[in-house]
Amino acid sequence: MMEENLPEDLANLSELDEKTLLEVLTRRFTQNLIYTYIGDILVAINPFKYLSIYEKAVSERYKCHEKKSLPPHIFAVADRAYQSMLGRLATGPKNQCIVISGESGAGKTESTKLLLRHIMELCKANSQLEQQILQVNPLLEAFGNAQTVMNDNSSRFGKYIQLRFQNSSVKGAKINEYLLEKSRVVHQDEGEQNFHIFYFMLAGISAEDKEIYGLLDPTRYRYLNGRFGQDGMVQTWCVKYAEVSNAMDMVGFEEQEKVDMMTILAGILSLGNITFETTDSDALKVSEASRGWLKATAGQFGVQEEDLLKSLTCTTSMTRGEAIQRLHNQQQGRRDSIAKVAYGRVFGWIVSKVNELLAPKVDWDVELNEIGILDIFGFENFAVNRFEQLCINLANEQLQYFFNHHIFLMEQKEYKEEGITWETITYKDNKPILDLFLTKPIGILSLLDEQSAFPQATDRDFVDKLNSKFKTAPNFEVVRNHTPLFTIVHYAGKVQYNASGFLEKNRDTIPANIRELFINSVTPLLSVLFAATISRTGTLMPRKAKLQAAEDNFNSTRKQSVGAQFKHSLAVLMEKMFAAGPHFVRCIKPNRSKQPDQLDSKLVMDQLRYNGLMETIRIRRDGFSWRPTFREFSERYNILLLKPDLPLDKSSCMSILNSTELSGWKCGSSRLFFKYWHQEELARLLERLGRAA
Ligand code: ADP
Ligand code: MG
Repeated sequence: MMEENLPEDLANLSELDEKTLLEVLTRRFTQNLIYTYIGDILVAINPFKYLSIYEKAVSERYKCHEKKSLPPHIFAVADRAYQSMLGRLATGPKNQCIVISGESGAGKTESTKLLLRHIMELCKANSQLEQQILQVNPLLEAFGNAQTVMNDNSSRFGKYIQLRFQNSSVKGAKINEYLLEKSRVVHQDEGEQNFHIFYFMLAGISAEDKEIYGLLDPTRYRYLNGRFGQDGMVQTWCVKYAEVSNAMDMVGFEEQEKVDMMTILAGILSLGNITFETTDSDALKVSEASRGWLKATAGQFGVQEEDLLKSLTCTTSMTRGEAIQRLHNQQQGRRDSIAKVAYGRVFGWIVSKVNELLAPKVDWDVELNEIGILDIFGFENFAVNRFEQLCINLANEQLQYFFNHHIFLMEQKEYKEEGITWETITYKDNKPILDLFLTKPIGILSLLDEQSAFPQATDRDFVDKLNSKFKTAPNFEVVRNHTPLFTIVHYAGKVQYNASGFLEKNRDTIPANIRELFINSVTPLLSVLFAATISRTGTLMPRKAKLQAAEDNFNSTRKQSVGAQFKHSLAVLMEKMFAAGPHFVRCIKPNRSKQPDQLDSKLVMDQLRYNGLMETIRIRRDGFSWRPTFREFSERYNILLLKPDLPLDKSSCMSILNSTELSGWKCGSSRLFFKYWHQEELARLLERLGRAA
């Protein structure tokens, strides 16, 4: 009975509508069956509690197994990807990519970790490299994750992890990171925190080291909102700090690099406490009260106090009478941008260092295959949507396009394999939205670049340009408002963007004197971070080794806007993904309160919709939603011929069907293809028969 009520693959359901889908998922969830297939897609509902389904014994079973032989599981996806890469399953590309999607807190990052873990098991990785690869996660999470309202351990960056293999054994890994939310360093909304590493460090560091780094009472730091450990987390953070420190050692960071990193973090905290005050002559200067912080920051950054002061002070000359508040804001903005840029560089450096340490050590002519795992923010629609949301939603739009393309191809492939005639499948194509963003010369991103190139242009000008170019575009809506707003109709719904700050964020320029300041730092790491740039390939080019190249590279990437860089990395990612064998994991958040055993139907339904799962199902319904094998069909319907002992084969199926008035069905080589209404008609026939008897 259970088997019948709780199918493991929803694509095999005879009735495939929203209600049934939700019902089955809910029933499975209440029995702790969090994984379900829809064809080759894995749906994973976050249990928000520990389930004993990831133990060694379980992972042993999901090694080289047949999909149908075991219940749906994230390990099964890892296994499929691995077997496909080795060419043990159907023919197709060797390289594989696993796309994990879902909203914040849905379980993407946990899924990524489980996938990594299982793949490492599958390839019996040599223990040092395996450990290194597995240790990368706690390290990246410490620097790139934070507590948010949605998720206590929310990733504030997107990542694509590529595992590289020579035949069946792992040889290395590479990570691409996308859009670290740097603004979190200087500001967090109510109920949120700064990046984990600040808390881990302050809780875990020895008193002696605290002294060395110049760290003071954590509640004094403005960038931490003056809050620290009221929620009784200090003990946990302390343990986490030891873990991170250990992870750095394992991955191969040097002691001096660790010390430098911590000192820079301490410097960022001190910097945040520098405040400004008005002088008698209506100018602004660093307040007397924060002189101490200025001194501390200079020490931690390894720079001269006067130099720091100079780069903190605004160069813009103020006309008399101009609102002092505006200057004040500018001044603080400048301080904050130093903090953001320093943190961003540290994070970028960690990633490039990890890539250097985990790069495959094989001869250049050895052919390597890849399994990539994409863990990137889901679609976002907040009260105020900024440049970051625009980029994230564009990425999701692109992923949706990739997903549609795959589903569509899979349908066609099955028709082909079964040798049935061509059916046109229509689906909600989001290409027009992608074009709106990406088309040259007049996509949204290129318009943004064009405007960013004019020093005098304002965010209003940008929106005015958008309005005049796209007022008739199907996915664009003009918003008449004093604030520069515009609306995009995304595949997942309408989002209104506030363009305030777009130009500046897109330019993302580091003022020359700030660069200069850091290049001259006596802290080696800081000097390297600003003398070099992290090139697109993810390798850091140190100043000493390749001064000229680094400078060139620096200048060339500087000229590239954030939007253009993001567009480029998306294009590279897509190229890789389209050339790989895809696997999809759709993560679902069952409730907003992060509670176990609670499922909010509306919330889940919304996610199923914008995850594209409803569309997947619609495609199957509009195509042939019901695909019984000859055996299944004849077993159930031979009664219509009143000959219960017919053989369960194709010819019996034909006799049965020809005795009815059904039309529009197709006969494949191993199964029959029906539209959803055929099943209703057959049910009616059975009913009539029952009444007659
Ligand atoms: P996302 O990356 O999608 O924002 P996470 O993967 O960080 O979400 O998951 C959020 C939280 O949900 C985790 O910190 C963990 O507590 C819980 N969680 C997610 N997946 C699982 C799972 N498979 N089993 C138990 N708890 C989970
Ligand atoms: Mg995450």
